[in-house]
Amino acid sequence: MPQLNVADTCVGTRALGPGWRSVVWVQGCPLDCAGCVAPDWIPDRPNRLVSPAALVDELLADPAVTGLTLSGGEPMAQAAGLAELVGLARARRELDVVCFTGFTAEVLRDRPPGPGVADLLAQVDVLVDGPYVARRDDGRGLRGSDNQRVRHLTDRLRGSGYDFAGRPRSVEVRVRDRGALLVGVPTAGVLRRFDEAIDRCAEHLGQGGPR
Ligand code: SF4
Repeated sequence: MPQLNVADTCVGTRALGPGWRSVVWVQGCPLDCAGCVAPDWIPDRPNRLVSPAALVDELLADPAVTGLTLSGGEPMAQAAGLAELVGLARARRELDVVCFTGFTAEVLRDRPPGPGVADLLAQVDVLVDGPYVARRDDGRGLRGSDNQRVRHLTDRLRGSGYDFAGRPRSVEVRVRDRGALLVGVPTAGVLRRFDEAIDRCAEHLGQGGPR
């Protein structure tokens, strides 16, 4: 059974797809897009290794969750484990699945980067594909830049009314014990202000401020 190498998770958010969803960001990405929003999650190093079954328990702990979002890092680099995760999750509840990938759908079809890609694609309802291109970041939609395409691989979310490509962006900030997590697709300005705020907090705490 493949283990997943996970960068982070979020149980319950409205910032990464329609409805109330859980998100898994995998650790490691073979691409290297300039301006990547999550550079810490590019290195292919062990972070949190967890079985798909255990991760399903975590992601579905909230009974109100109706969807999963797979992001990273690069989900297609861990496609076999994620395909198993989605299968196990759907055995427990009806769910829609949104997946981000830096590969284009054509590359995934013709030159899949690893095992399990076809199995995962068979379970994804909406695929947002293609690399992030900073000069094409138009600040809109559930995608980083407008070269990335929103592909409805099934009809499940086609009539949902959720405007994947054109909606105003929104983010949520989750405060953790040692830091904060930005959930969503941020505009460049939001990302800059978030990073500045984190730096100021670290500086403050480093100088003996309140904890
Ligand atoms: S594909 Fe995504 S995670 Fe990978 S480098 Fe590009 S923006 Fe970052």
